[in-house]
Amino acid sequence: MATSAGTNTIASRDLRLESLTKEFATFTAVKSLDLVVPQGKFFALLGPSGCGKTTTLRMVAGLDTPTSGHIYLGDQEVTYDKPYKRPVNTVFQNYALFPHLDIFENVAFGLKRRGIKDIKKEVGDMLDLVELTSQSTKKPTQMSGGQQQRVALARALINRPEVLLLDEPLGALDLKLRRAMQIELKRIQTEVGLTFIHVTHDQEEAMTMADTIAVMNGGVIEQMGAPGELYDNPKTTFVANFLGQSNLLSGDIVGRDGQQVIATLQGTKVSVLADRAHADSGSGWIGIRPEKVMLAEVGGQIDAPGNRIEGGVISDVSFVGVSTQYLIRMPWGQELMAFEQNTGHRGLFSVGTRVDVSWRPEYAFLLDASQDATAGTTDADE
Ligand code: ATP
Repeated sequence: MATSAGTNTIASRDLRLESLTKEFATFTAVKSLDLVVPQGKFFALLGPSGCGKTTTLRMVAGLDTPTSGHIYLGDQEVTYDKPYKRPVNTVFQNYALFPHLDIFENVAFGLKRRGIKDIKKEVGDMLDLVELTSQSTKKPTQMSGGQQQRVALARALINRPEVLLLDEPLGALDLKLRRAMQIELKRIQTEVGLTFIHVTHDQEEAMTMADTIAVMNGGVIEQMGAPGELYDNPKTTFVANFLGQSNLLSGDIVGRDGQQVIATLQGTKVSVLADRAHADSGSGWIGIRPEKVMLAEVGGQIDAPGNRIEGGVISDVSFVGVSTQYLIRMPWGQELMAFEQNTGHRGLFSVGTRVDVSWRPEYAFLLDASQDATAGTTDADE
């Protein structure tokens, strides 16, 4: 959609939130949020229950009025526009389909309400998109959860919103169906090219679908970026633990050596790439993802130069088919997690085996030790 803005004749239709705040009587749910969602991207708001994701979404939809701040679509301010006046539609977890109407009529609803007469082709195209053409005469109760969710999606998309908001849309589906629908949703988003904002507390779901993830915690965004970027280079302990799992080891920062930051970990010198070091003096959390931890028998060869720590003992082994998950008790009492692919290159370690532990320095990250090392873990969550 083109808007005139002086010499810039076509303004981008990015969604912008500026200092967006929502205070309830005794609680500030969203705290001065600044955010740009680029037009046509799949954006995920990810965070634990109560972090303010739904409130943010409701303000974008016009269902909640912000206490302060602004919402723009391109250069058009929509902060106080009525919900039906904004080019925004929402798909909720509880599909909210009309039970007395068949699927065709459910999808046609928005067009009919706008007085559009010639709807057959448009509804047909939309049913094609969500692969439900053969189901058009069924009633919602005759369909599975995943099918109903696709009808809800078609019913929202037919209004051609600029921004589609998805509030935990897959939450009611079982795991297998949820995985299938994630792929489906991403396909549909790519095909229609609209801006999707997806709210979820499921980190795997966010990583599977989104171009960009904003990790929310306590009403603010902790970190935002592409899934791989956030996973590899978390800036806070909350992000390190909430997005996947992390080993966080207490170390003392020695200083910088070229492109590396050097630290000591229980007497062993280790290094972290400078662009993954988010602390530069004092003590720090040295972070390493479990699948990056490599194990060897005492003195055995490990394909990871540097950062080798001796004296570990296997304390738990969980065989999960594709991989084996180990816990290793280190000499200072901490248990590290290591996930090893079951490639068959050697047998499994058993509980009590003495091992050395290592990782490639380029996979480590370094965080400020003033942060709680358990923030964002399952125990700290909910
Ligand atoms: P969930 O995944 O559980 O829905 P969420 O991240 O979407 O969580 P919100 O629904 O945005 O969280 O709620 C954020 C905070 O604001 C919560 O602590 C909630 O209790 C509070 N809250 C939400 N709506 C209201 C309200 N109408 N009045 C008072 N407090 C509210």
